[in-house]
Amino acid sequence: MRHNLTLQDISRLSFIFYMQIFYTISKIKKYISEHKNKKISIGFVPTMGALHKGHISLIDRAKAENDICICSIFVNPIQFNNKEDLLNYPRHLENDITQLIAVNCDILFAPSEKEMYPVPDNTIYNLGGLDKFMEGKFRLNHFNGVAVIVKKLFEIVEPNRAYFGAKDFQQLVVIKYLVKKYSIPVEIISCNIVREDDGLALSSRNARLTKEERAIAPFIHQILLKAKEKSRTNSVNEIKNMVSEEINAKPLIKLEYFEIVNKSTLENIEKIDDFSDCIACIAVFVGNIRLIDNINFL
Ligand code: AMP
Repeated sequence: MRHNLTLQDISRLSFIFYMQIFYTISKIKKYISEHKNKKISIGFVPTMGALHKGHISLIDRAKAENDICICSIFVNPIQFNNKEDLLNYPRHLENDITQLIAVNCDILFAPSEKEMYPVPDNTIYNLGGLDKFMEGKFRLNHFNGVAVIVKKLFEIVEPNRAYFGAKDFQQLVVIKYLVKKYSIPVEIISCNIVREDDGLALSSRNARLTKEERAIAPFIHQILLKAKEKSRTNSVNEIKNMVSEEINAKPLIKLEYFEIVNKSTLENIEKIDDFSDCIACIAVFVGNIRLIDNINFL
């Protein structure tokens, strides 16, 4: 059941809410081994915190489809290729805990960096080349860093199902591959993108936008909608030109990439034969903040 409570309500009523918080691997593993014996299904939502309604939609789904829901909060340093982005990444653990309690999340795993990386983990994963497209071109080693942490977390939490947002579409495809390639026994569930009323995809980074930048940011979704509409009548090249021209004409937004790719292989699509295969993915800088989004063409 979902509670719409204010912060004051929660602190007043906190004695009736219950969420266990683990900070160490040994403690959560002990809890999990006890529960696995009872054949309890675990739904897992890995996050980097600064939770918003997008994350909460994943928690809601994990709760609905499993006996218990575990959320992790860990800002994974090795998936950042930009020091400044890592330093400025929003961290609001207390507020996150309040939100998780309000939606009846059962367990929070919030390890420290030392706990997750007592020694550096230099494992290199074969991600089938899926890590080389789009984000991979601009964020060197990003997906290897994601694979390292997600695999580690799966080994600790042993979830039956793990929930990922379609906002990070390439991440979803990479993780599905990782799980198949390394025979990890978990079902990966893709969850819809949650948006603001004006269309901007929710992101922890949105909080760092200035008022002017926030006002222009919904243009990202608008241009994706326009690209989809144009896909019915125009060629891939025409759509790409339209997107880059319109974005670059806007103040405060700079296009990093816009690609129309095959949803499974992530390879560029030159000519659209089947809309159901196509997804358009975009990365832009709004001021200094890098935002990504995507749209299915079907
Ligand atoms: P993050 O904390 O950014 O690593 O995100 C944790 C999970 O939440 C990832 O699976 C994201 O894809 C997902 N997520 C982030 N933003 C949204 C959104 N607007 N809608 C749905 N899922 C999201």
